[in-house]
Amino acid sequence: MTAEYDVIVVGARCAGATTAMLLARKGYRVLAVDRATFPSDTVSTHMVQAPGVALLEQWGLLDAVVAAGTPPIEKYTFDFGFPSGSVRIAGTARMPDGFCTAYAPRRTILDKILVDAAVAAGAEVRENFTVDSLAFEDGRVVGINGHRARGGPVTERARLVVGADGRDSKVAKAVAAHQYNDHPKGQYQYYSYWRNLPTDGFEVVIRPSRVWAAQPTNDELTMLVVAWPITERHAFRADIEGNYLRTLDLAPEFAQRVRAATRVEPFVGAAVANYFRKPYGPGWALVGDAAYNKDPITALGITDAFQCAELLTGAIDETFGGATTFDDAMAAYQRARDERYTAVYEHTAHMAQLEPASADFERLIRAMRGNQEAIDAFAGINAGIVSPLDFFDQANIDRILGNDIMARARH
Ligand SMILES: Cc1cc2nc3c(=O)[nH]c(=O)nc-3n(C[C@H](O)[C@H](O)[C@H](O)COP(=O)(O)OP(=O)(O)OC[C@H]3O[C@@H](n4cnc5c(N)ncnc54)[C@H](O)[C@@H]3O)c2cc1C
Repeated sequence: MTAEYDVIVVGARCAGATTAMLLARKGYRVLAVDRATFPSDTVSTHMVQAPGVALLEQWGLLDAVVAAGTPPIEKYTFDFGFPSGSVRIAGTARMPDGFCTAYAPRRTILDKILVDAAVAAGAEVRENFTVDSLAFEDGRVVGINGHRARGGPVTERARLVVGADGRDSKVAKAVAAHQYNDHPKGQYQYYSYWRNLPTDGFEVVIRPSRVWAAQPTNDELTMLVVAWPITERHAFRADIEGNYLRTLDLAPEFAQRVRAATRVEPFVGAAVANYFRKPYGPGWALVGDAAYNKDPITALGITDAFQCAELLTGAIDETFGGATTFDDAMAAYQRARDERYTAVYEHTAHMAQLEPASADFERLIRAMRGNQEAIDAFAGINAGIVSPLDFFDQANIDRILGNDIMARARH
């Protein structure tokens, strides 16, 4: 019996809609399903870093993001509250070709643009459709069993089912995808949206056991997220608004700006576990948070989902086109993913612990003042452009500290 579709994609947001779009553009018969309807929001603070924006541009979708009134972000400001006094540095995260613009479109806007692009490319997108289980034959995934809201059961078949169904992935569970290199949840965060809250680009404030970040978004609003260690989540939850506002008092100028602003949406709380999953097996593949997930402290999940959709669809095309076997193409996808992200993943999971900064780290940050190249590179870690392995390499640290000593000697 021939499959109705080449690929069924479960989940139609950053990873799923993108995967469906890219496969449909290659001429494959694609069905993408999502239990949500679009436009709709989801839990995310939605910063798309420059490499993600570059992909939106490559796919012809950036104009729509800009046309929705999404403000560009080119400056990253970090304010470190060290015991001996705070240090503020500001830089620009540049890709090797010089591109340096990030955007933080609301997910109501971004995900709708992606879904529309998948449909325009020829994919069938079924909204309001929940996948209840996978269909198996001889141990191989051959399709999905699901239902529309208020509809009866439906089965659809495909050569490949892609789970792009997020961090609680039903597909990953159904195939018992092997999970590895896990790290526990590190921070608990609450975010909301504010009117009349000016920010200095993407602004991050770090205080002992506390961190917060602000960024401009659509409708002239500012997203402000405040994080505490996961071990203090019950205390945070006991008085969300009071704790959120009192945390900001650790940086009085910032707190003053917020007190002059108006909160216009409810608080949303979240904590995220860190893991990699084996992203393929007989008849199935995973992409996005379903395949690999990390704490949002580095704000990279969307950018990584876009990049992984590129990697996965390339691998699917190779195997469907007969250039290589499914196992070889998918093993290469997994290898490329793990090589690309492991360093930033470890760095992210560590940062999410909100541990006090070491004396060495403070010395490094202090030495970076006036060294724009080093600050830009530091911002580049956050944007997924510079590997933390390269930045925190001893030779680079020595260079930054050495430059600082020479600069001070000159004055
Ligand atoms: C608090 C928080 C803040 C974040 N901030 C950022 C940030 O600033 N920048 C950034 O890049 N990333 C951020 N992230 C991460 C980012 O949101 C995710 O990496 C991204 O959403 C992953 O996209 P996805 O398509 O894999 O999954 P999702 O966006 O979770 O989409 C999964 C889709 O699958 C659908 N689905 C699930 N199960 C089924 C089913 N059984 N049947 C049908 N449909 C189903 C869901 O309805 C959903 O639409 C943040 C995450 C959190 C939690």
